[in-house]
Amino acid sequence: MKLPSAFPLALAAAGLATATGLRAENPPSMNQTYGLVIHGGAGVILRQEMSAELEARYRDALTQARDAGYAVLARGDSSLDAVVAAITFMEDSPLFNAGRGAVLNADGICELDASIMDGRTQAAGAVAGVHHIKNPIRLARAVMEKSEHVMFTGDGAETFARTLGFEFVPNEYFQTELRRRQLEKAQQLEAGKKSAAALHERVTFATVDDNYLIDQIKHGTVGCVALDQHGNLAAGTSTGGMTNKKFGRVGDSPIIGAGTYASNATCAVSATGWGEFFIRLSVAHDIAAQMEYRQTPLAAAADATIAKVGKLGGDGGVIGIDRAGHVAMSFNSPGMYRGYRLSTGAGAVEIFGPAQ
Ligand code: ASP
Repeated sequence: MKLPSAFPLALAAAGLATATGLRAENPPSMNQTYGLVIHGGAGVILRQEMSAELEARYRDALTQARDAGYAVLARGDSSLDAVVAAITFMEDSPLFNAGRGAVLNADGICELDASIMDGRTQAAGAVAGVHHIKNPIRLARAVMEKSEHVMFTGDGAETFARTLGFEFVPNEYFQTELRRRQLEKAQQLEAGKKSAAALHERVTFATVDDNYLIDQIKHGTVGCVALDQHGNLAAGTSTGGMTNKKFGRVGDSPIIGAGTYASNATCAVSATGWGEFFIRLSVAHDIAAQMEYRQTPLAAAADATIAKVGKLGGDGGVIGIDRAGHVAMSFNSPGMYRGYRLSTGAGAVEIFGPAQ
């Protein structure tokens, strides 16, 4: 089956910021609304190709990740803690392209990237190309809180982790049979390719058969954005990057301003998609900039930025939340694993795009 090349842009679940006050079980706080949004990657995720059983597994994992983060917020803890809780859950699940279940690079190993940003202080931390850190999002947070730098890569990042007593795992811990088959398929497709764009085209819009096996060959990154009861925003992203990546390739996920951004002045954003495009367009910061300089509402800003990604030839999506509790989930791929939950009672877990 050939997919249409342009899908209707974006679902924007917005406008849920009514100040309802806190529920009785919540501790007193300064903030009227709190909540979070998560994603588990965007890509060729097709309703007709996903079995009811697999869909149920994804919905369950997304719900558990979302609720793990929400529980942190509900007890009055920070948006940073909530982001780490939700992402850690998805890193530990083999369903997502982060931590265990991450995609394999061209050498057949998992190479992980992650970043986090604190909207209150605009402090940030990131790691790229780590091979043995069980939960890269935690190491990104340690870079932010326990070093005077923003990003560490590869062996250096792992040496830093060792000084802090981080949990190390063999690379095989991350690797799964499905990802091995996806790598084989990607390498077969590559053997006949002419350019990176042609490969992407073939991988993304291949036959039903191919899609069935490789629907997440490119995407599956996880992310979370949160607003806590104190009115502070935070964002985080974690990924194995893209299947068959080479030469130490790093995508947008660990790049502050591209894959992750947070500022209490505007919003918190986490991205997923074809990372090269997200880097070139500084996607996460572009959304915040529209809010800051033009007072564009979050959902409209997210849609506009994703439209720019599409125009340049890229695909993927973003999630965002602002200080009033407006949320955005915008994407130009057929689907994006996503969910949100707010203290207003609003919430949902979704997989497919509006066109399906
Ligand atoms: N953005 C990630 C990267 O390019 C991939 C993804 O979101 O699935 O590394």
